[in-house]
Amino acid sequence: MKDWKTSAAELYDGSFRPMFIGGNWVEARSGQTMNATNPADGSLLATVPQGDAADIDAAVAAARKTFEGPWAKWTPFERQALLLRIAERFEAEWEDLCLSDTLDMGMPIQRTLGNSRRVLGMLRFYAGQAVSIHGQTIPNSFPGEIYSSTMREPIGVVGAIIPWNAPIAGSVWKIAPAIATGCTVVLKPSEEASLTVLMIARLMQEAGLPEGVLNIVTGTGAEAGAALAEHPGVDKIVFTGSTATGQAIARAATGNLKRVSLELGGKSPVIVCRDADMDKAVPVAAMSVFANSGQICIAGSRLFVAREIHDEFVQRVADYAAGLKIGHGVDPDTDIGPIISARQAERIQGYLSAGPAEGAEIVTGGGRATGTGLDEGHFFHPTVFGGVTDEMSIAREEIFGPVISALPFDTLDEVVTRANATPYGLAAGIFTTHLGTAHKLANRIKAGSVWVNMYHAIDPAVPFGGVKMSGYGREGGTEHMEEYLDTKAIWINA
Ligand code: NAD
Repeated sequence: MKDWKTSAAELYDGSFRPMFIGGNWVEARSGQTMNATNPADGSLLATVPQGDAADIDAAVAAARKTFEGPWAKWTPFERQALLLRIAERFEAEWEDLCLSDTLDMGMPIQRTLGNSRRVLGMLRFYAGQAVSIHGQTIPNSFPGEIYSSTMREPIGVVGAIIPWNAPIAGSVWKIAPAIATGCTVVLKPSEEASLTVLMIARLMQEAGLPEGVLNIVTGTGAEAGAALAEHPGVDKIVFTGSTATGQAIARAATGNLKRVSLELGGKSPVIVCRDADMDKAVPVAAMSVFANSGQICIAGSRLFVAREIHDEFVQRVADYAAGLKIGHGVDPDTDIGPIISARQAERIQGYLSAGPAEGAEIVTGGGRATGTGLDEGHFFHPTVFGGVTDEMSIAREEIFGPVISALPFDTLDEVVTRANATPYGLAAGIFTTHLGTAHKLANRIKAGSVWVNMYHAIDPAVPFGGVKMSGYGREGGTEHMEEYLDTKAIWINA
């Protein structure tokens, strides 16, 4: 088996990693840098540029020049071939890419190696989409005299802003459709996790990505992110992150009326009916939250369980949680890695205190995990709260940590109403062995994705996104291509 710890020391040695603008690896114009640290132990992995508005200006100019220049001449077949070459390059460097993510944001290596692998499928899916872009010939009111048709055009320069919780998938899901459609991109990764995104840019460059198609500006949200969101040279913003930041970005985008797609937060319900197959449902319901230490937008953090089976089911989820191994992501046995930052750990701690204060009882967990190897990072025991009511803050607000709130229910009508009583609408899970119940609930739950007797499935060919305050726009599927394309009508008087 690969020795991940030795490889980790070889991958990042604390040195400076430049950002990527116009095909060049550069410092910030201000010369400022930020530290990239390992959340498992606080060690310095590298320093990266702290880009600001001046760097965003340079990156947007490079993206615009390429969009209007040589990139516009690339055929769909050439863009397709590029995406396929990138997939091959990623595959060749897959272990280093995953290790980089594990070091940079803490995701356990086994999860990165398995779960993130869907990005290879993504690249190949968008390679197929690149050669499937077409308009229509439309019969009009002047048959035989005037011909009308539509053509699809790339929207232009796309500003992409992503969070830290899944840098490989998060960045590729923004970049691949841009390449497929012929757009160019300025991407700002999270200040908490820039390194893997820089590695992705290097691999894409090695695969033959022309200069200016992808530009990466590392920096903070307040400086580089805000500058990108309001930049008049950007035609579209694709954003993944919190609802509050999404709202700020939507406001900033009004200056030049750039279009916006938002993949935001959630407080997703998992509904376990009394006829559910408990053996199958327990681990899935638990990992719907505990995977990636709860730092997942689709976390099924409100666990509604039919009253008849509530106590047994919740106890089994708690027992499962208590058996999960907490540790550094580079340990192949680790199930639960560190929380990204002290700020995020404080937030989680706040909810762990608020739960009991508001009357919830701790079934398992409830605090930090400490001890050998854990004291330098921010580790938490997976926590299950029982005795929760819908009004409690732990049942209403996104925690983004390993915390489940268990809530009993009596009837299907009641659980639908309660599950929908949230500003969010990202995802939902249903566990039942009754087909009719599955249909009824799946139809009535307001969410962008509903999984029945499963959770977490995300596929490049299937649209993913939210409703209500979980955002708008879709990633994945043919819908995703629409986010990067404009329609032009052409009239010809023959
Ligand atoms: P965040 O909103 O704090 O930051 C996301 C990105 O936005 C970062 O790159 C940040 O630097 C940038 N940013 C911050 N302020 C900005 C501003 N004013 N203008 C422009 N950019 C700005 O989110 P986070 O803490 O990094 O990630 C966690 C959140 O992301 C959670 O709410 C989670 O649900 C959400 N998320 C959603 C999805 C999804 O697909 N729906 C996926 C992953 C994460």
